[in-house]
Amino acid sequence: MYAQDAKLASDSYYAATATPLPEQPSLQSNIRADVCVVGAGLAGLSAALELSDMGYKVVVLEGRRIAWGASGRNGGQAIAGYACEQAPLEKQLGLADAKKAFNLTLEGLDLMRARIKKHRIACDWTDGYMTVSVKPESTPELLDSVAYMRDTYDYPHLQAISPQELPQWLASKRYHGGVLDHNSAHLHPLKYALGLAQAALEAGVTIYEHSEVTELMHGEPATVKTAHGQVTASFVVLAGNVYLDKTVKKLAGRVMPVGTYIITTEQLDKTTANALIKNRVAVSDNNFVLDYFRVTPDDRMLFGGRVSYSGATPSNLKTAMQRTMLRAFPQLSHAKIEHCWGGFVDITANRAPDFNRLAPNVYYLQGFSGHGLILTNIAGKLAAQAIAGQAERFDMMAKIKHHPFPGGRMLRTPALVLAMAYYRLRDYL
Ligand SMILES: Cc1cc2nc3c(=O)[nH]c(=O)nc-3n(C[C@H](O)[C@H](O)[C@H](O)COP(=O)(O)OP(=O)(O)OC[C@H]3O[C@@H](n4cnc5c(N)ncnc54)[C@H](O)[C@@H]3O)c2cc1C
Repeated sequence: MYAQDAKLASDSYYAATATPLPEQPSLQSNIRADVCVVGAGLAGLSAALELSDMGYKVVVLEGRRIAWGASGRNGGQAIAGYACEQAPLEKQLGLADAKKAFNLTLEGLDLMRARIKKHRIACDWTDGYMTVSVKPESTPELLDSVAYMRDTYDYPHLQAISPQELPQWLASKRYHGGVLDHNSAHLHPLKYALGLAQAALEAGVTIYEHSEVTELMHGEPATVKTAHGQVTASFVVLAGNVYLDKTVKKLAGRVMPVGTYIITTEQLDKTTANALIKNRVAVSDNNFVLDYFRVTPDDRMLFGGRVSYSGATPSNLKTAMQRTMLRAFPQLSHAKIEHCWGGFVDITANRAPDFNRLAPNVYYLQGFSGHGLILTNIAGKLAAQAIAGQAERFDMMAKIKHHPFPGGRMLRTPALVLAMAYYRLRDYL
């Protein structure tokens, strides 16, 4: 997985527009810590920062560079709620806990805002996010969610945008109504992740880069090994996204790596850019295999979508992505595509997050299923609180049942490809 992903990481708009942090050393000795965090993406960094603020000695081991994974490459849409939406959570946890789970995402959003302010992270925060329907017949159900979320979840921030009103918001004929969430937002994810890493370093967290974990030995303390050193720690937090299942066998099959891709156009003239999306809110469609897009502060269309379930990068990616963008915005046919990249989303079979323990002192955070930007923040906080002895909220999330993908590690991809082909077909019907 690591090798395939390396190719997708290089050409991102984010990498071209963020200032990298100085390279951190790689682990070359045997050291002791209170907590060893594996992975310097948003989940690992969030846990590390919280734990350090609580007084723990924290070491982060990162196989590549800080924010090299999905956290530095995603669509930048900070969306309240879960990829699975509320219905499965209500079924599994009951309404009262499903409400608490939803509110956790609001707390995650507030936590992001607070961190940005406290650590002065300049990351292009822009309020507003809209879900739009691709098929006219799915519009009523989408619009109904406004009343449901207001009445059942006391969430007053949603606004229904009727098919007649949508053209005032979106210069695209592809969509047929939408729901605008005034509380959700979008941002430059790499700038945010690097800012969080900087805050963690300043708080006393030690981060080792180019230090891939090769083995986890359970025990109290546990031992986490890399090629040239090891960390002995009272607690371990595994936050390695889709990359850990070969190293930590107990995680195998719990998440599926799904490739998703993004392009940005060249800078458009301001009038064209302003006309695309009112107030420059972020937008996703409501297909199962969805497109997501927004206009960047420097006037580019940033358009994501298209997926790969096999792990292989689709051929002619840039052209294929451009075609997908032009399906929604044909007026951009003359805009040059300047960046094209992608990464892997860690989806679970039910698309609910998978936070739990492998042992009383080994925690893992994964299964963000494409909604990780907010969720990683709160996940890190919940893991830190659980380590500090306040596990109630972590344990509530850990109650969500997950079934590994059918067929085990070798067969799960073909099985998923078949299942997804079905859903994709449904998107077209
Ligand atoms: C293209 C794309 C678009 C997306 N768009 C959105 C969006 O708009 N909104 C949203 O909410 N979410 C989105 N997501 C999902 C979101 O980015 C992720 O859910 C989130 O970033 C996951 O964070 P993480 O810290 O768990 O993983 P990552 O950021 O992937 O970090 C994991 C880190 O662990 C390291 N690691 C792994 N294994 C080891 C090991 N053995 N030893 C040491 N280090 C290791 C990796 O190198 C990596 O740096 C998108 C994802 C992608 C790929």
